Amino acid sequence: MAMARTTALLLVAAALLAASSSAWEVNIQMPASAAVDDAVAPLIHALRPLLGSGKQAGVACDSWRLGVEAYNVRDWKTVPANCEGYVGHYMLGNHFRRDCKVVIDQAIAYVDGLKLAGNGKDVWVFDIDETTLSNLPYYATHGFGARPYNATSFDAYVMEGSAPVLPETKRLYYKLLKVGIKPVFITGRTEDKRAVTVGNLRSQGFSGWMSLTLKQHGFKGSAISYKSAERKKLEDAGYVIVGNIGDQWSDILGAPEGARTFSRPDPMYYIA
Ligand SMILES: [Mg+2]
Repeated sequence: MAMARTTALLLVAAALLAASSSAWEVNIQMPASAAVDDAVAPLIHALRPLLGSGKQAGVACDSWRLGVEAYNVRDWKTVPANCEGYVGHYMLGNHFRRDCKVVIDQAIAYVDGLKLAGNGKDVWVFDIDETTLSNLPYYATHGFGARPYNATSFDAYVMEGSAPVLPETKRLYYKLLKVGIKPVFITGRTEDKRAVTVGNLRSQGFSGWMSLTLKQHGFKGSAISYKSAERKKLEDAGYVIVGNIGDQWSDILGAPEGARTFSRPDPMYYIA
């Protein structure tokens, strides 16, 4: 009996390992056979993030990430040093992709429930970096956000025009085109990056957007003021912003926000 339960416990552990990303381990101390019954109950408590789960510098990385995504943690400059491995595992493993899928599934369900005017005035605002295109190839070699932002090296990466698509966002993008909602890009990239940005979007399979707005050089305001002002221009021109998606809270805060906003996960950097 004890052996059977031990075997069952091992199978559960193996299933959990297979079903979860590599960022998790199952920390089971195999009990002596007499203690098997006691060992079954605490299984769930034995799951813990493999990396960065310690509280060096007082930070538990999974709690920190939740705080970031919920906009409780603000104005941060870098990922806590002890969380570089945690964020790396999150971004590269299944967890990030699963989280993105939930966001886009919700967005598509919302679109399916819309009563559209069908007059060509419905638009959806997309951010670009970490929303439409991924800069993970850059961040994977720069500490996943744990190192201070380096504008020179990041700009050099952007100018390669090689950022890969975030496939869930692309799924939403083409859903919108199908139902007659026009995609609009509003990005914090500056105007001098228009050509490379257009080329990058096209190389990753995007076409058919209504407009692409880049930030004017020398603009000193916040991302919230820039992006909300651009959305206001859309509304003033008679467009209805039925949706707005970004990876930063500064993409989706500030009136007019759009009828509904969606926030993609991004634990690597913060833009005010
Ligand atoms: Mg972004």
